[in-house]
Amino acid sequence: MPRFYCPPPLATRQTSALPAPVAHHLHVLRMQPGAALTLFDGRGGQYAATLAEIGKKHASAHIDAFQDVEVELPYAVTLAQGLPEGSKMDWIIEKAVELGVAAIQPLAAARSVVKLSGERAEKRHAHWEGVIVAASEQSGRNRLAQLSPVSEVSRFMAQPVSQPRILFSPRARESLAAWAGRTAPQALTILVGPEGGFSVEEEEAAIRAGALALSLGPRILRTETAGLAALASLGALWQAM
Ligand code: SAH
Repeated sequence: MPRFYCPPPLATRQTSALPAPVAHHLHVLRMQPGAALTLFDGRGGQYAATLAEIGKKHASAHIDAFQDVEVELPYAVTLAQGLPEGSKMDWIIEKAVELGVAAIQPLAAARSVVKLSGERAEKRHAHWEGVIVAASEQSGRNRLAQLSPVSEVSRFMAQPVSQPRILFSPRARESLAAWAGRTAPQALTILVGPEGGFSVEEEEAAIRAGALALSLGPRILRTETAGLAALASLGALWQAM
């Protein structure tokens, strides 16, 4: 069953115009009026809908029924990811959404090769939002991960938060598994460095600001592996079915 994100508000017993990209997608799929769809608006739950009209750029659907479906994790993880090179961030965001991430914070780390600002940062932000929508459609999530604008590590760490912040470092002496075995917070932030890792200053400043350094084991993982390995490990430890 095709699933599509439609910005709010969706409501039952109404015919809603579908966003142009959704109409285009349905057109490409050669969907015909009467086809069954699932729509969600990001406010939780989803809607059973029936395609009413379909053109190249316009489509509408009748919203038949609300379905109270939630597939969210019982804890909220923010992935603060040091900006990697090229399109790796797309891949990281896609997989992190599949694994249930609640929020994504791109970090302009000292060793990030990619520098984003101004119009390029805005374009990339919009592109990443599209990645979040597509991964949510595909994975059955009815809520969209929140995407924050790119931030410097020090600025991000200066924000006062009550949730634990975990800095992943191959040099940390405690393992994620050991820590996660004795606590179960409702929310946490995990920080992953870019290809070259966090600088010594960044690591020290993050720890001074209250971050806990944890290890994912004795092998050095690539930046695109580390956050996803952490998300998957936490899911295995904390996610009740
Ligand atoms: N030479 C770099 C390695 C960078 S790997 C360094 O020594 O820091 C990129 C990022 O992935 C790291 O900054 C860290 O956040 C994470 N990472 C990779 N392997 C890890 C491990 N075994 N334990 C914890 N974090 C790891």
